[in-house]
Amino acid sequence: SWLQGQTALITGGGSGLGRALVERFLTEGARVAVLEKSAEKVAQLATDFAGEVLGVVGDVRSLADNQRAVVATVERFGALDCFIGNAAVWDHGASLLSIPDSRIEAAFDELFAINVRGYLLGAKAAAAALLASQGSIIFTLSNSAFYSGGGGPLYTASKHAGVGLVRQLAYELAPKVRVNAVAPSGMASDLRGPGALGQQDMAIMDSRSPEAIRAILPLQDFPSPADFTGSYVLLASRQNNRTLTGVMINADCGLGIRGIRHVAGGLDL
Ligand code: NAD
Repeated sequence: SWLQGQTALITGGGSGLGRALVERFLTEGARVAVLEKSAEKVAQLATDFAGEVLGVVGDVRSLADNQRAVVATVERFGALDCFIGNAAVWDHGASLLSIPDSRIEAAFDELFAINVRGYLLGAKAAAAALLASQGSIIFTLSNSAFYSGGGGPLYTASKHAGVGLVRQLAYELAPKVRVNAVAPSGMASDLRGPGALGQQDMAIMDSRSPEAIRAILPLQDFPSPADFTGSYVLLASRQNNRTLTGVMINADCGLGIRGIRHVAGGLDL
């Protein structure tokens, strides 16, 4: 177990990738806390993990809620070794021209408050505890942190902003705290969109299919949330990661080497 005795705080740990990270980090020997907006999902964590997971109901847009989660984590487990900023919303690919004039300001503010301000405030709240433990930060980015067309301009710009946070915070917090990211491709989760676009009840698989996602990826796979967790274990592990900071792992089934004529050069092999 690569994370024996380590403590992690995961935002958005109630479903999808965050929930898969909760399970994987427990398996690797970590103690796990979650900051999650949905009280139902936090109650489900308590049921499923028999009180082993510390669940904090709160909103990543609030500095006070992030601070409350960090304080509760350190109180319960004695330290914080890894902060994982992961809670986010998508935009279901809402394009510049499709977003109504009446909604675009509120949609930007809502999505950026969760996806960007949430990561900034999580890092702000966790920094002192991470300096004390000489721990690390991991942010969940997306293929939309590097490429167009995986979302609309709101989501794509928010994930590109995450790249800036990784680089700047890795610089500011070195040498004591490592700051890295994982940038996944599509997966089936409960990922929603901003209420300002009427997408609060719309989940990612309502507008995407496994077949469509698989077809665009060189590895021709549709990974489950659990398939992305290994990169986080590597980045969080003290004994296996003494060298990586400011690194973003493109866990996207080869999107960066997609061919022009064929998605994968070896389809006929
Ligand atoms: P998800 O909705 O299943 O998980 C996100 C969790 O965050 C949910 O439990 C939600 O309740 C919570 N949350 C949302 N807003 C919050 C807030 N303001 N405060 C606290 N908690 C909040 O979706 P997911 O796909 O597992 O998303 C996790 C991360 O993965 C996100 O950063 C997302 O951008 C990224 N990602 C997802 C995909 C995909 O295809 N699903 C692809 C690339 C990247």
